[in-house]
This record gives sequence, C-alpha cells and structure tokens, in this order.
Amino acid sequence: MHELAIVQNIIGIIDAEAEKNSFARVVEIRLAVGEVSGVIPQCLSDFFPIASKGTLAEGAKLVSNVLPVTVRCNTCGAEGKPQNAKCFSCGSSDYKLVSGREFYVDSIEVE
Ligand SMILES: [Zn+2]
Repeated sequence: MHELAIVQNIIGIIDAEAEKNSFARVVEIRLAVGEVSGVIPQCLSDFFPIASKGTLAEGAKLVSNVLPVTVRCNTCGAEGKPQNAKCFSCGSSDYKLVSGREFYVDSIEVE
C-alpha cells in the first residue's frame, strides 16, 4: 500500500496549496518519478481516482515524468547514464548516483 500513502501525501500537498492560493479545481498534476525511486507510476494512477474522490484533485489528470538514472564517475568525473552498471565513459564501476531516486510533485495546474 506504499503507493496509496504517496497518493494521499500528494493530495495533502494540493490541499495545502489550495489554502494558500485558493483555487477551485486541479486540472493536472505532474510528478517527477526517479527511475529507481521505487515508485511505480501505474500504481499511482490506479490509486489516484480512489484517493482523490471528494477532494479538489478529483478528476485531475495525473502525469508521471520518469527521470532517468544519472551517475557521476569517481574515476573520470563523467556524468551521465551508466551502461551495463558501469561508467559510460571509462568503464569504471566506482560511481555515485546523482539522480534517479527522487520523487516530487513537479507542478500543479489549477483553475
Ligand atoms: Zn568514468
């Protein structure tokens, strides 16, 4: 039920925004979902209509933009997508994750 908790969290963010900016309806919610964040966009889409029922977010479109994994190589300093779990530039497996694990509400379109 991990995704349901996330969806409820998103709706909580929208409620807080609505209090600050007084809008009547949410048209679209854009999420940034890291490739290795552990969040499954399809599960969010499945839970969203249930969790948003009766809230400002009801009927809104939920869009998940998947952010690819990016690493920075500790050997050559290159930054980009790893290939076969190795640095795309020098082949080293000594690198750290720069992006791909994040998950956040990117933007909310309201009326
Ligand atoms: Zn490298």
